[in-house]
Amino acid sequence: MHYSLSKIASLIGARRYGKDDAIIDWLLTDSRSLAFPETTLFFALRTQHNDGQRYIPDLYRRGVRSFVVGSLPEDHEKFFPGANFLLVVSPLKALQRLAERHREEFNLPVIGITGSNGKTVVKEWLYQILLPDMSVTRSPRSYNSQVGVPLSVCLLNEGSEIGIFEAGISQPGEMQALAGMIQPTIGIMTHLGEAHQENFSTPEEKCIEKLALFKDCQLIIFNGDDKTITDCMSMALIRGNQLAWSRKDEDCTLFIRAVEKYKDNTVVKYSYFREDGQYTLPFIDDASIENSIHCLAACLYLQLPKEVIGERMAHLEPVAMRLEVKEGARDCIIINDSYNNDITSLDIALDFMNRRPNPSNRCHTLILSDIMQSGMSSEELYGRVAAMVNHRNVQKLIGIGPDISAQGHLFHTDKHFFPDTEALLASGMLQGLHDEVILIKGSRKYNFEQISDLLSLKVHETILEVNLEALVENLNFYRSFMKPETKMVCMVKASAYGAGSIEIAKTLQDRGVNYLAVAVADEGADLRKAGITRNVIIMNPEMSSFNTLFEHRLEPEIYNFTLLEALIHAAKKEGITNFPVHIKLDTGMSRLGFNPKTDMERLIDRLKRQKALIPVSVFSHFVGSDSPDFDAFSAEQFALFDEASRRLQDAFPHSILRHICNSAGIQRFPERHLDMVRLGLGLYGVNPINNQIIHNVSTLKTTILQVRDVAATTTVGYSRKGRLKRASRIAVLPIGYADGLNRHLGNGNCYCLVNGQKAYYVGNICMDICMIDVTDVPCKEGDTVEIFGDHLPVTVLSDTLGTIPYEVLTSVSSRVKKVYFQG
Ligand SMILES: *Cc1c(COP(=O)(O)O)cnc(C)c1O
Repeated sequence: MHYSLSKIASLIGARRYGKDDAIIDWLLTDSRSLAFPETTLFFALRTQHNDGQRYIPDLYRRGVRSFVVGSLPEDHEKFFPGANFLLVVSPLKALQRLAERHREEFNLPVIGITGSNGKTVVKEWLYQILLPDMSVTRSPRSYNSQVGVPLSVCLLNEGSEIGIFEAGISQPGEMQALAGMIQPTIGIMTHLGEAHQENFSTPEEKCIEKLALFKDCQLIIFNGDDKTITDCMSMALIRGNQLAWSRKDEDCTLFIRAVEKYKDNTVVKYSYFREDGQYTLPFIDDASIENSIHCLAACLYLQLPKEVIGERMAHLEPVAMRLEVKEGARDCIIINDSYNNDITSLDIALDFMNRRPNPSNRCHTLILSDIMQSGMSSEELYGRVAAMVNHRNVQKLIGIGPDISAQGHLFHTDKHFFPDTEALLASGMLQGLHDEVILIKGSRKYNFEQISDLLSLKVHETILEVNLEALVENLNFYRSFMKPETKMVCMVKASAYGAGSIEIAKTLQDRGVNYLAVAVADEGADLRKAGITRNVIIMNPEMSSFNTLFEHRLEPEIYNFTLLEALIHAAKKEGITNFPVHIKLDTGMSRLGFNPKTDMERLIDRLKRQKALIPVSVFSHFVGSDSPDFDAFSAEQFALFDEASRRLQDAFPHSILRHICNSAGIQRFPERHLDMVRLGLGLYGVNPINNQIIHNVSTLKTTILQVRDVAATTTVGYSRKGRLKRASRIAVLPIGYADGLNRHLGNGNCYCLVNGQKAYYVGNICMDICMIDVTDVPCKEGDTVEIFGDHLPVTVLSDTLGTIPYEVLTSVSSRVKKVYFQG
């Protein structure tokens, strides 16, 4: 977008303070993402947990001069000379209003997509199908929220020929605002699932809320076989035409006659207005098939010829809604975002690279291909890219392709250009990269997988995928039970419940969590070395680790007098005063902690008679906060804690944070949150109250090494345990109990998922290998297998084993590589 400040003020109905009529090209809602201060307009959004107003001084110092605010900063003329303030009642509403006005400037088809699952895939596939014929503006990644949608809609520009935007809601009443901004002419309702059901009383209520997006659409596309959707369509007073597709009803406008699944593709045969057509999809899972049918319906309505649709469907690419971070060779970190390449996603990826703490000062390197179909001239396009490269702190650029090479003079960093990927691979340059953070960003046709493969460490094919976006959603889920002022400790002990503590801690630090907690001092030191600056609590400080605590300012838990004396002694020797410690009281666990009934007087006295340590918090732990069976006991624990912790507080003039709730307690006992809460399992996606998955974070995956047919008389594995009942196909997987796959899951006790279907373990699980029965499951060598995760809840495994999900998650061995991604 490109508006003057005065125009924006009139569009959003703001009162303007300041004289300068700046030109605005960038809208900013998150101060950490600033790149172009002079032409940025910052919206100081107020959320439950944060107030954007707090970031104005920092942004001002960094050169931003235009702000949309809910209240004027005090003495703004004195403290912010030359700044422009647009005063409104609600900065969020103003942002949305601006998007609405901006949208109204455009008379073009806009596809609005909602539903519980598949929104981003349908959007990205439509983009892939339509792109060769028209200039598409779409939501970047899954920007589908109250803030994401206005930022997406404001990307519409004179070159746009069609808009495709996602709308996601989690609560009643949210869709109306999104509908006003997107103003879709074509609506698509994707699969309706369980997500966010907790905020709605019935699936119908949620469906009707979603349908509010479509109230002024010309056409609504949906699955006519889904009863909830069809019932709600009639209840929701939808005016537009309906394009229901069906696999059962031959009279439907779009009748799906047959879905034929083969080994690695699916043929879908349909008739549209009674005319037959078909396409081949390079996927076989049900979700992909359903998503492709939604795309088919939209393309038929847009009058794309059937042959063209068939041709493009055959080449659909899996949608990588993610930016992968992995360790590379020679101490490089690889950020792989090489599935699409446009200027918006480039900026997001560069921002992501910049925001990661970079303590060892690795060089920031960008490997970038030509950007296709931008609708801009080469000079303009690469001029903008060069500005980004500059503002986003890229130190080395490797450009691939004729266009970027021809514009090489625009870049002023260390730069290298190659005509194509092969030339780069052949140059040997990649092997020379070391100690760098490397962002790989390329259009599909440049096959950047080859670059990422070459830079990556070769590893065991078993990986744990960790979804950092889901982690943040879980964090927000728990924050929704809390008062804004209540502080939070996030537990990243046991390698963040198996997910790997460093990347998790980076994400939590970025999200403003107050404290992180680990078990031992060395784990804390690792966090410090990785650039974590947040307060870190050490739950089990060993006597031998005191110097590590002092050196890295890691705050120990103190649970008895022996430890207290030893730490006072050690701190004195180092001449340390006021070192922060956390006092643990044992109110019923009978584990570690001071006795709240008998120890308080002596504890207070001892703490008062020294200067080396200062108690900054006091806490205890519930024995059974997850279950009403223990509610009476939890109440006793709380009463004991409440009394004893008050005594401690009353004895000191400074305030001491009191905390007792863990994940289950946060949800079940809002009245007991006190000053702070401690979030553990729930952060990693398992709700301890009912063992349901909130948003899945970790997925343990492996690949099929070998498939073989064996006779019914054969046995499989050690001790001839795997006896077969029939001639079978057996697949071998490179994962065993040494990776954390519990041996008791073997011998048919549990299953994994191969291409979405269950395959049971056959015979004993070995140390590094296991075998599964795939007699009825179409699969081949190299196919991906899910051990637990997105489609197979970890609780299925823990239930089979008669244990708790905590144990299964923390058992994943450190030799299993972790790959992190942003949803
Ligand atoms: C592990 C732990 C927690 C977190 O418990 P969850 O049930 O995982 O939420 C909280 N407090 C203490 C002291 C812990 O050790």
